[in-house]
Amino acid sequence: MSTQPLAFHKFPVQVPWQCDRRGDCCKKFDVVTMTTQERTLILDTVSLEVGATLKWRDDQTPGFVQLQAKPCPLLGADGGCTIYSIRPFNCRRFMCLRVGDEEWQTNPDGSCHNFTARLAQSRAARRFYELMQRKTSRWALKHGWNWKA
Ligand code: SF4
Repeated sequence: MSTQPLAFHKFPVQVPWQCDRRGDCCKKFDVVTMTTQERTLILDTVSLEVGATLKWRDDQTPGFVQLQAKPCPLLGADGGCTIYSIRPFNCRRFMCLRVGDEEWQTNPDGSCHNFTARLAQSRAARRFYELMQRKTSRWALKHGWNWKA
């Protein structure tokens, strides 16, 4: 992976933004970190066969676990999440803010460049992101996330 920072892009900003379910984020990250409550919910929802294929390891933060991904085993063949209604907080709060057929670009640390560049360039994007974080935090607070920890 390159350690050179990517050139700053001036991306088009479209808010409100809606995910077009290309599934790239579900393929790019090594793990999906979630609370043990979220894991229990997933294991109670998927079939025993699917549950047995999921590979887990403890996160360094107590109360959190990591589902081995890249790609996420819960990603459907159609590019949609097979557990969408109960997807973990880290999936709910993620957004790339891409518009049209724009390609995914990765920062040197592996994070999404399309997203971070838009936040840096646009107040509207930052406001939209904050709004979405507030919405998704309701899910988090009900499923074991504790920002005081
Ligand atoms: S749980 Fe669903 S939304 Fe989250 S990474 Fe897996 S497929 Fe994507």
